[in-house]
Amino acid sequence: MAEYDPDNIFAKIIRGDLPAHKVYEDDKALAFLDIMPRAPGHTLVLPKAPARNILDIKPDDLAHVARIVQKIAVAQKKAFKADGITIQQFNEQAGGQVVFHLHVHVIPRKNGVSLRPPASFKEEAEVLGDHAALIKAALA
Ligand code: AMP
Repeated sequence: MAEYDPDNIFAKIIRGDLPAHKVYEDDKALAFLDIMPRAPGHTLVLPKAPARNILDIKPDDLAHVARIVQKIAVAQKKAFKADGITIQQFNEQAGGQVVFHLHVHVIPRKNGVSLRPPASFKEEAEVLGDHAALIKAALA
């Protein structure tokens, strides 16, 4: 497996070198909206520790990410009146991974509404800002 690249786009967001619509942050994890959401409110949850994916993350860091994934799912259900939540996590190119810093997709779902295809739609920054505010309010 390739080495972790500290200049990947999510490492830059964690360092504050690139912007993101953050919804949650603590000393070990960060959650922000996906800029190409497959449904409104689509959020990514990341460990702050460098990890390429499930194959190299430390178990304690993964456990913390799982706790935050659950928090975000509960907040999304409230914020978006979701009927369900889809969780996805991809590992290595063959597993569908595009950005090589571990992240978990947390996606609010409505009955009968399909996910948009991956990377098919770039959301407006203003809409992402509104959606981030809804999730933050539900987390408070
Ligand atoms: P994957 O590695 O397959 O889980 O896909 C990476 C995900 O990151 C995709 O859903 C992209 O839309 C998303 N993404 C890529 N760049 C950014 C960014 N700068 N901010 C937020 N999400 C991003």
